[in-house]
Amino acid sequence: MELHWKIYLERQGTGERVTVCAVRRRVEGATIADFGLSLAEGRQLLAALQQRVAQDQIRAYDALRRPCRHCGRYRRIKDWRTRIFATALGKVAVKVPTVISCLCTPEPLDDNDDSTHLRFSECSVQPLFPARRTPEVKCLCAKYGSSVSYTCRGFAAT
Ligand SMILES: [Zn+2]
Repeated sequence: MELHWKIYLERQGTGERVTVCAVRRRVEGATIADFGLSLAEGRQLLAALQQRVAQDQIRAYDALRRPCRHCGRYRRIKDWRTRIFATALGKVAVKVPTVISCLCTPEPLDDNDDSTHLRFSECSVQPLFPARRTPEVKCLCAKYGSSVSYTCRGFAAT
C-alpha cells in the first residue's frame, strides 16, 4: 500500500488548478527515511512552485501591458522565449512573450526613409526584470560578498 499526495496551485478567482508536484510513500515496510519530505523533494517542490508562480505572474503582467498605449488594441505576440531569472530560491526558467508593435504606429524606416516592413517588437515583461534577478538576490549577493574574504572569493572563482 502507498499513500499518494498531489500538491496543487490555484490562483484565486480563476478556478484553474495546476499540479505542482506529487509525493508517494509506502506504508508497509516503511522506514524512518520514508517519513516526511526529503531535502531534495523540498527543493524540488519549492522550485516547481517558484516556476509556476513566476510564469503566472508573467502572463498577468503581459496581459496588463499588451494593449497598445495609443489606440488600446491588443498587440499580437511574435514569439515566446525562455528567460532565466535568478531568485532567492534558485534560478527559474519562464517563457516570456515578444510583442509586435501595433498597426497604428508607423513602421520603422531604413536609412533611405523607406519602410523596412519590419515592425518593432518588445518584450512586454522586460521592465519587470531589467537585471534578470530579483532585488532579494542582489541583496544576498552583496551580503555574501561582504562576508567572504578576498582570498576566499578568489579561490571560489577558480
Ligand atoms: Zn495601436
